Amino acid sequence: MRLCRFDGNRLGLVMGDEVADVSAALEILPALRWPLPYGDLLIANLDKVRSRVEALAVTAPRKQLDQIKLDSPVANPSKIIAAPVNYMKHVEEARADAGINFGADIKTIDHYGLFLKSNTSLIGPGEAVRLPNIERRMDHEIELALIIGKEGYRIPEAQALDYVAGYALSLDMVIRGPEDRSWRKSYDTFSVVGPWLTMPDEVKDPGNLDFWIKVNGETKQASNTRYLIFGLAKLISYASQAYRLYPGDIIMTGTPEGVGPVAAGDVMDCWIDQVGEMKVGVTLAT
Ligand code: MN
Repeated sequence: MRLCRFDGNRLGLVMGDEVADVSAALEILPALRWPLPYGDLLIANLDKVRSRVEALAVTAPRKQLDQIKLDSPVANPSKIIAAPVNYMKHVEEARADAGINFGADIKTIDHYGLFLKSNTSLIGPGEAVRLPNIERRMDHEIELALIIGKEGYRIPEAQALDYVAGYALSLDMVIRGPEDRSWRKSYDTFSVVGPWLTMPDEVKDPGNLDFWIKVNGETKQASNTRYLIFGLAKLISYASQAYRLYPGDIIMTGTPEGVGPVAAGDVMDCWIDQVGEMKVGVTLAT
């Protein structure tokens, strides 16, 4: 099943080129009062929502996918976790390019651990990435995103994939420079997740997925998740050694070689096998 959030908190079941509006399924979500629990309410109740979606889909009104505005499939993650330098060929290009490393000695993920991006940097593909108007190189990084489905802490690697609610494409946008990663990667709109939540039943082997990003039609990054240094199960287990994971938490798994700058007016076309495709515009922040 593929579920999208669209047109301002509507829930859609993606069926080929169409979306069935199954927003009525959201009525099963419990009403909450302060203080709110960590995590995303929809993802936390995904099994119940899913049964309602299946019942509603038969008669739900449909729209064409290209006629709707897609939001991030997760509305309220408790955190956005990201993996630095998790593909060897990206490590090599970062070491070779002063425009990426800014004089720093680039090591691998086991040296750095993970990092967090601001929750408020999150958008869906229906919104454009807004670049700050500063003289800096700003790059695309396409990454497979994992959406965590249930709470967990110190999760063993052997059980880690049981914690996945689904997969999505993500763009970990970044300003190159000497500041801390979380600063350079947490600007508003710098975390794009979409086009929808693709549940595990749609993905044969998440550890073996081809993907690419084209900027203005030209292929910039093309790789496969089998080249991850820390694979998906290890990333979840590793993250949960430090952070208690909650439903809706997003893990951006790292980007391969081919990162490069974008500018206002560019269009980033992103695709991951079996997960989806999304086009994301670039504009200037005002
Ligand atoms: Mn990244």
